Amino acid sequence: MNESESPFPQSPVVPVTLEGSAPLQFRCRKGIACWNACCSNIDISLTPVDIVRLRQRLGLASSEFLRDYTVPYELEKDGIAGVKLKPVEGGSACRFMTPEGCSVYEDRPTACRYYPVALLSIRKQDESVDRQQYAVVREDHCLGHREPVTQTIDEYRAAQGVVEVDEAARGWRQLILKKKSSGPTVGKPSKRSLELFFMTCYDVDRFRSFVASDAFVGTFDVPPEELRLALEDDLELLQFGYRFLRQVLFGEMSIALHTDSVEQRRQRLAERRAQLEREAAERLAREDDEGGAFVDV
Ligand code: SF4
Ligand code: SF4
Repeated sequence: MNESESPFPQSPVVPVTLEGSAPLQFRCRKGIACWNACCSNIDISLTPVDIVRLRQRLGLASSEFLRDYTVPYELEKDGIAGVKLKPVEGGSACRFMTPEGCSVYEDRPTACRYYPVALLSIRKQDESVDRQQYAVVREDHCLGHREPVTQTIDEYRAAQGVVEVDEAARGWRQLILKKKSSGPTVGKPSKRSLELFFMTCYDVDRFRSFVASDAFVGTFDVPPEELRLALEDDLELLQFGYRFLRQVLFGEMSIALHTDSVEQRRQRLAERRAQLEREAAERLAREDDEGGAFVDV
């Protein structure tokens, strides 16, 4: 695609997809004339891993972090939710920006690490795995593109600590890609499954309580050691959560069910069905007694 074909002609994203081996001329450094310009007007989507790292750094419960530092948005129409970093009250600057730079630098969001590169996760309908490609973002205020330093995109990702956070968020990206590519074939997700998606991916403390509950443990057959690891470590819990969501959203049997709970559920359904049939028969009998509620015409 050339630039004139771009559906967003004003977009700073250069409309060329690149492999990780492509060269990138760029350097950001303290003292550059545009220092902090990029953090003064933010639009930053957070991954589940970003939320875990930031809330740990700030010593907050996940629900407190979500309430005070984020705003939800729709990742796709009528679909699953995403979360963005909330800027300063009444402005567009990042709340973590200081004159010296980013106050959460070691735990800064994935999008900040990537800048000025954008990740494009792509999965074709006939492919079973997603591929990562990239695009470069060129904004007039960013002078880093004029610096005489060139590296490949892969080298830049490694230097910015992107590889590790990308890997930890991969299951989340795959869920979103799968939802987008499967479209109406799996139907519109129910309100309940969308709420589960939000809790599992973003509100990790609430998901932990859910996984530790008697109802969950009584339904899902998770080996005790695996359950312990997931309950003790936020990042392990996220990986477990992605598996859980594949089951909830797409019906994949990614977590085994207790056979007795399947049997119990079958029994409950059979009892419920029998009860409904009894109630319907009693209603019919009453209506017959009351003198012909049904009229055939
Ligand atoms: S988190 Fe840090 S790097 Fe990212 S926008 Fe805020 S101040 Fe800038
Ligand atoms: S060079 Fe770009 S990324 Fe670095 S401070 Fe300037 S605007 Fe921000």
